Amino acid sequence: MPTFVYMTRCDGCGHCVDICPSDIMHIDPTYRRAYNIEPNFCWECYACVKACPQNAIDVRGYSDFAPLGHSVRVLREEDKGTISWKIKFRDGREKNFVSPIRTTQWGTIKSPSEYDPPSADALQSQELAHEPEALHIAALPTLSPKQFTKGLK
Ligand code: SF4
Ligand code: SF4
Repeated sequence: MPTFVYMTRCDGCGHCVDICPSDIMHIDPTYRRAYNIEPNFCWECYACVKACPQNAIDVRGYSDFAPLGHSVRVLREEDKGTISWKIKFRDGREKNFVSPIRTTQWGTIKSPSEYDPPSADALQSQELAHEPEALHIAALPTLSPKQFTKGLK
């Protein structure tokens, strides 16, 4: 199951609309609240759930992610710099995880169009954009043919 929005919590800020990679979170023009316009195309990536300042979005996970119908709630608290995950199983057990969140200011990450276009050589390379400098290493590690030798010596 994809995302759904608790209408009484949503204030129509649009963060979920901006962040959804599938472009399916829209603001209803009449009610000024967000809703998922195409549930079948939801990736369940949780980007909108984590971005929502009102904690207004929920996801009913597919069985690969939420086996046996357990529920997942996410709470992002910027003042604490944390994101909390609460997994509640059908038998009542709960698992709670807390992780730090990135501190990059909203809207300050450069868009792809702000970078120089890659050279023709780069398009033939196995490296991804901005590798290896973005990884803060001189070169990507490589395997020598000897390391492909079968078995231990
Ligand atoms: Fe879009 Fe991901 Fe939210 Fe689904 S979970 S509506 S794909 S941001
Ligand atoms: Fe509503 Fe949350 Fe989306 Fe803002 S991010 S429009 S509060 S559902």
